[in-house]
Amino acid sequence: MNKLSDISYVKAVLQKHGFTFSKSLGQNFLVNPTVCPRMAQMCGASEKVGVIEIGPGAGVLTCELAKIAWKVVAVELDKRLLPVLDETLSDFDNIKVINADAIKLDFKQLIKEEFNSGEVVICANLPYYITSPVIMRLLEERLPINSLTVMVQKEAADRICAKPGTRESGAISAAVHYYSTPEMLFKVSAGSFIPAPKVDSAVIKLNILTEPPVSVTDEKMFFKVVKSSFLQRRKTLSNSLSSGMSISKQAVNEILIRAEIKQNARAEELSMEQFARISNIFSEINKKEKPD
Ligand code: SAM
Repeated sequence: MNKLSDISYVKAVLQKHGFTFSKSLGQNFLVNPTVCPRMAQMCGASEKVGVIEIGPGAGVLTCELAKIAWKVVAVELDKRLLPVLDETLSDFDNIKVINADAIKLDFKQLIKEEFNSGEVVICANLPYYITSPVIMRLLEERLPINSLTVMVQKEAADRICAKPGTRESGAISAAVHYYSTPEMLFKVSAGSFIPAPKVDSAVIKLNILTEPPVSVTDEKMFFKVVKSSFLQRRKTLSNSLSSGMSISKQAVNEILIRAEIKQNARAEELSMEQFARISNIFSEINKKEKPD
């Protein structure tokens, strides 16, 4: 049996190194012996596909990934965990631990240097406080990765995976669907972690698209339109767009007519195609007002 799936071993190593959990770093470590092997199996790692892990903690997921992948690079911010990882991962020679902040790290450079531009996936039990910024950063940078398999709070997983145009969808759903096809893999109960968080989690996989699913003339404008549309969830789309895009309600309504979208529509009713139509009209108007 893998020693890291034995909770008393993990607790003993952490205690030996005087480690105490930091809430502000989102440190909830997995102690359920079935979750990490499942995540590792499903993330797409193989003898040919390397893995980047964000936040290895005590190395429970790291070692499952290292059994499958030819190489694992684990990025951990908390220096106190480095001696812990030295000890828990000592049986493996295909793991490299890097002490860095995943928010600031140059992942493109890392992939070039560590994986020789070969195939890579990302797999992580993400610290909750950086879920959305990390996911969005990794997607927006168009990293040369096949997929992103992450454990996040169940509510965030639902929102991220919700198809634009459905009630659960939000700005992040549309943004994520622009770059990937999200998949809900499985749910994980709060009791699978020490310390146990207040809410359940879920593992999702974002399969990276080679081409966006809709044709957008200006990506910046597309994301601005999406963000503005969801600014005030309880209001209609035309109210949200009017304040978010700083134009009159009448001008918004004219745009909605051109885009063939009903005046009283709400942001969560809009498909990717409809967001793209609105955004392309905004870009066209902008171009007319500020010709090159
Ligand atoms: N992978 C381990 C597991 O599943 O048991 C730990 C997961 S824990 C939810 C999140 C981990 O991310 C912690 O080890 C924490 O120190 C680390 N972390 C927090 N913020 C980070 C950041 N900005 N960059 C890299 N790692 C970070």
